[in-house]
Amino acid sequence: MMPVLMLNASYEPLHVIDHRRALTLIASEKAELLERARDGREIRSPSVRVPMPAVIRLRRYINVPQRGATWSKQNVFARDKMTCVYCGAPLTSKTATIDHVLPQWYCKHHNIRANTWTNTVTACRACQSKKGGRLLHESGMKFFDPTYEPRRPRANYLVLTWDAHPEWREYIQLP
Ligand SMILES: [Zn+2]
Repeated sequence: MMPVLMLNASYEPLHVIDHRRALTLIASEKAELLERARDGREIRSPSVRVPMPAVIRLRRYINVPQRGATWSKQNVFARDKMTCVYCGAPLTSKTATIDHVLPQWYCKHHNIRANTWTNTVTACRACQSKKGGRLLHESGMKFFDPTYEPRRPRANYLVLTWDAHPEWREYIQLP
């Protein structure tokens, strides 16, 4: 038995399943093979030879209750490790504020939700008021870590009961 990482159609990790179930999902075209086991193992029967799957992806998106990954101020602070994303200052739950990447007035005007994982970041009060109600490029401000991107924490979807296989690493965030 070989554990296989199963991703939603959106590439979010969902479960770790055993390879037999993964093969059934692939055979019934409910899932596609994304990564095969790097050791090149195959599963053989008298009639077929298929690569041992390491990561599969569901073809249809399934709605998953967002355990632990529900949007809240505190969860955004936790995702950003209690640090201002603009100046890198360490914060506390008392000094941290939520900054909207697209300002709230802008979201309202364009009828988009403001309080989402991708539109909210942790900021200190000084940076938040410096940015004001402007769009990021208008404010001339930049994320402290240039590679930073506000996103929904993915790790919360998945409780790893297996050691993470190297083939999975691209698809999961490890602490
Ligand atoms: Zn700051």
